[in-house]
Order: sequence, then C-alpha cells, then structure tokens
Amino acid sequence: MESNSLSESLINETEVNKEEEPPSLVAKYHINRHKVIDSLLHTTETKTTSFFRKEYLPGVTDDEWNDWHWQIRNSFRYFSQLEKFFKIKLPETHESINKDSLPLRITPYYASLIDFSDANDPLYKSVVPSANEYKIFPGESSDPLHENNNSPVPNLVHRYPDRALFLVTGFCSTYCRYCTRSHMVAKKEKSHFSLNDFEPAFEYLENHPEVRDVLLSGGDPFTLPQDRLEYILQRLRSIQHIEIIRIGTKVPAVLPQRITQEFVDMLKKYHPLFVSIHFTHPSELTPEVEQATKLLANAGIPLGSQTVLLKDINDNVTTMKKLMHGLLKFRVRPYYLYQCDPILGSGHFRTTVKSGLEIIKGLRGFTSGYAIPTYVVDAPGGGGKIPLLPDYVTSHNKKGLKLKNYEGKTYLYPDYISE
Ligand code: SF4
Repeated sequence: MESNSLSESLINETEVNKEEEPPSLVAKYHINRHKVIDSLLHTTETKTTSFFRKEYLPGVTDDEWNDWHWQIRNSFRYFSQLEKFFKIKLPETHESINKDSLPLRITPYYASLIDFSDANDPLYKSVVPSANEYKIFPGESSDPLHENNNSPVPNLVHRYPDRALFLVTGFCSTYCRYCTRSHMVAKKEKSHFSLNDFEPAFEYLENHPEVRDVLLSGGDPFTLPQDRLEYILQRLRSIQHIEIIRIGTKVPAVLPQRITQEFVDMLKKYHPLFVSIHFTHPSELTPEVEQATKLLANAGIPLGSQTVLLKDINDNVTTMKKLMHGLLKFRVRPYYLYQCDPILGSGHFRTTVKSGLEIIKGLRGFTSGYAIPTYVVDAPGGGGKIPLLPDYVTSHNKKGLKLKNYEGKTYLYPDYISE
C-alpha cells in the first residue's frame, strides 16, 4: 500500500537526523521508555488524529505514537515530506525557504490536526513556511525586543527589576512561523547548551537578590531531557531569593505526549511553579491536550495561556472566544494576548492594534472576566509589555467620570473627593 511506503520513507528520512534530538546528559535519570509509556494517560485521541494515523502512518504502534521521543525524531522537517505525504502544492520559492529562515519542523501529532489540502487552514498557516516570509516591512528586525541588549550574561535577559528570563534551549518540537525569538530559536549554536554553559546565568542569579521570579523559556524548555530540566530547577530552587519559577512552553499543544505522570511528578517538587502555555487556535484543543493540561493542573501547577494575535488565523471575536472558553475548560487561565512582534518577515501575520482592541471589546462584558486575556504590545526596543484596553471613558469633569459599558450605554461615576 502506498501509505505504508510513505510512512517508511518519512521515518527513514528523519532517523538520519537523530542527533537533533536534545541529548540526555545526566545518566541517573535515564529514561525508561516503557515506564513512560505505561504511565501515559493518552488513551483517547481526536477523530482527525485517528484518521491521520490510519491513512499516513499505519505501521506506527500506539507505543511509538505516544512516545514523545518518537514524535520528535519523526517530525516533518522537509518540504519534500509534506509534498509526498499530503500532495500539497509548494510555492516556487520553497527550495530556498529553509536556508536562512526558521526551519520547518512539525510533530506528527500536530500535523494530524492540520488540513494540508487547505493553505488557509489556521494551523497550516502557523507552521508551514510561506514565501511571504521574504517580504520585509519597515520596523521589522530579527530581535525587535532588543533581548540581546538586555542580556548581562549568555542565556539570561534581565529587563524588569525583579524578574529574569532564562533561555535554556533554542530547540522547539514545532516551529511557529511568527516566532518572536527567531534570533535564537533553531540556530545551530544556540539549540543545545551544555550544563556548563548555564553557569554564568546561575552565578548572575545568585548575585542578584532583587530577582525573585525566573521565567524559563527558549526555545521550549519542555523539550529538554527530564534530567536536564530537573537540574536547572534544582539549581534555581537552591537560590534562596528566587520565590517563583515560571516555564513558557508550547509542548502541551504540539506534543502532549511529553506530559507524563513521571514528568509532572518531577515538576511538582519545585513549587511554586507556574506554566504558561502557548495556544493559537481552538483546533489545538484536543482530548490529548486536555489530558496533558489535566496532569499538569492535578500536580498543582497554575496554568496560564499565551496567544499571539494572528491575521486570518485567530483575529476575530468568535475564534478568540472559542479558544478562551476552551482553555478555561482545560483548566488554563487566559493570560496574555500579544500583538504580533515585528520580527523579520512577519507582515502577513500582523493585524492592526485596532483589531486587537475590537476583539477585547467583543469579549469584555460578553463573557466572564476569567476568559479575557490581557492584550499587550511588547514594546519594540525593549520597553516591556504595555497593556492595551478599549477606551471606556468618554469624559471626565467635575461631576465625575462618564463611562460607556459593553452595550454602549453611558453611566456616570461620581469620581470626586468629598471635602
Ligand atoms: S514554540 Fe515559542 S519559541 Fe518555539 S517556535 Fe513557537 S513561538 Fe518560537
């Protein structure tokens, strides 16, 4: 059967690139894959995923499919694979697309959610490179947030007074075409660090008692081998003044197989620990993802979401409301909605700020406050996050504050101090 040979060819092509899997350094936590698979709760899957597996990967067992290492090893990395598997028509420029820009990488699980027959499918647009990435618009740059300028030692960004960003890997299991950190992500020299490479960052944190909150990001920290991530968490926990550790990840959405009981049992030893998960579209809210967020939430980890506002992907009230309601059902509290950063070649993803404000206006009052993320612009040049809100104040005078509610009705609040 043709699909059999295609699945073999996918596996053969990607097995060649095994060395790209993040290496495990500390042997004591050597992963016993059977143990990991036994503890998985991924017993249900979406219909589209079942169909995808039958159609394209019939020889792949449940154990393999549920093994996150298998998912990473067998990710789609070449246009030729997409062409062969999904018969998609590629842009004429596709040969050159992978050369300088963010490479292609999609886990088989995430690919199973994509409609490859439709180039307008929201998930397709998010992860399949397009020729639009070569159109550069004014104001775009490879590091618009000037993270490199706020980096006192390698791997660390210290922009805000009491918190620091610790970049622990440049590797992600799936690459988003609008990635704000494309200056680092998937760059060969920044993809895999040795534990020694982190020493200057640990030393800096030890010597800066004002830092009470550290955010691990990258790349995706959840793609690190468990032993390495635990080593980083242990080191941070040994620094008395660090009160909170946060981790930013897209793994639960693109590689839910990684979230196992064994993994969350390790994480929960390092409370207070918060996890912010990057979600893009309601199509990502599958039973597999629900099981992953359930494991994390049951381990007492508060979960927040981060979403980038993307043109023709999630830039309307209906889609955004569906996403935010779905996240709450998955025990993830909507946290930030980001205006898309002006990274190189991101013009086709950016909406106007006005559309972002319209979306917030369409949520506030029409759903519970828990379902409304804070809409922010991360100020180019390193100014940090600036929240944006629709203007509900129509005037302010001696009588008080005139406000407009979500229905457009006007109310007067007596905003004065009595003498
Ligand atoms: S998961 Fe985050 S860091 Fe990785 S490619 Fe996507 S946006 Fe960039």
